Amino acid sequence: MQSTSLQSSLCFDLHCHSQASDGVLTPTDLVTRAEQQGVNVLALTDHDTTEGLDEARQAAVKYGIKLVNGVEISTMWQNQGIHIVGLGFDHKHPAMTALLYQQARLRQQRALDIGEKLEKCGIEDAYLGAKSLAAGEVTRAHYARYLVQIGKVKHEIQAFKRYLGQGKSAYVSAQWCDIETANRVIHEAGGVAVCAHPQRYPLTRSKLIRLLNDFKNWGGDAVEVAHSGQSPDQRHNLATLVNEMGMYASAGSDFHFPCGWVELGKNLWLPAISTPIWLAESFQTSNL
Ligand code: AMP
Ligand code: MN
Ligand code: MN
Ligand code: MN
Repeated sequence: MQSTSLQSSLCFDLHCHSQASDGVLTPTDLVTRAEQQGVNVLALTDHDTTEGLDEARQAAVKYGIKLVNGVEISTMWQNQGIHIVGLGFDHKHPAMTALLYQQARLRQQRALDIGEKLEKCGIEDAYLGAKSLAAGEVTRAHYARYLVQIGKVKHEIQAFKRYLGQGKSAYVSAQWCDIETANRVIHEAGGVAVCAHPQRYPLTRSKLIRLLNDFKNWGGDAVEVAHSGQSPDQRHNLATLVNEMGMYASAGSDFHFPCGWVELGKNLWLPAISTPIWLAESFQTSNL
């Protein structure tokens, strides 16, 4: 590990979304908000796309924020969707563009299939409705927002509970790539691989340990130790586990839209025991 041009005193937020996937703000407005919130280093990590990065970079240059190239890759592991964040890679690298092209095709087909299932539940034209809310590919979050808009559910969480969540009536599993592939492609493109929000998956502790072991054995670099929706105790527990396993820690809000409970750059402290990914040589020498 080498010492650092990226100081720990800076505010890092290495996970958030723009309109390029299921965020509500444009990349420019997202970076503007990050600057207002005191973020110094921001990674835009849209779901399976890097389409927002060029616009975000222009805004970041204007505001003097360091923008890290990012992506949140959807993977499947033991029949469970797992998100792998790539950071600091070359977003024009052919291995990355090929993987994201494939993921986008899966997403398009899945979006159509979800629309058909909702049709069978008596909800017509849901695909067109969700598509009208999306600037890029249609995600389940767009479907959730559409279901709220037409009054089928009260809020997005209810849309997942009733229709879109795993095993529900409009759930469609996608053949996302595996973790090994995501890690390999991120590395080939010069970046580091981070296991996103591990405490948000419905896994027992022993299964979570198996996931992190597999992730590490497949070349994973870091785990998002600081993420939203955790208690301080949970964060400390995760930090201890990640430290024992010899992996770096990352921090990301997973901000999607302005709301009362998640904010860019907020509540992303790392326990003292953690070694932040931004101190890793692999991160500092990546395509920042
Ligand atoms: P997709 O990548 O199309 O499967 O969509 C997943 C996205 O939907 C996640 O990144 C979240 O933004 C959102 N999401 C997933 N589960 C929930 C939930 N229970 N409540 C609200 N939003 C959710
Ligand atoms: Mn999302
Ligand atoms: Mn995620
Ligand atoms: Mn995310």
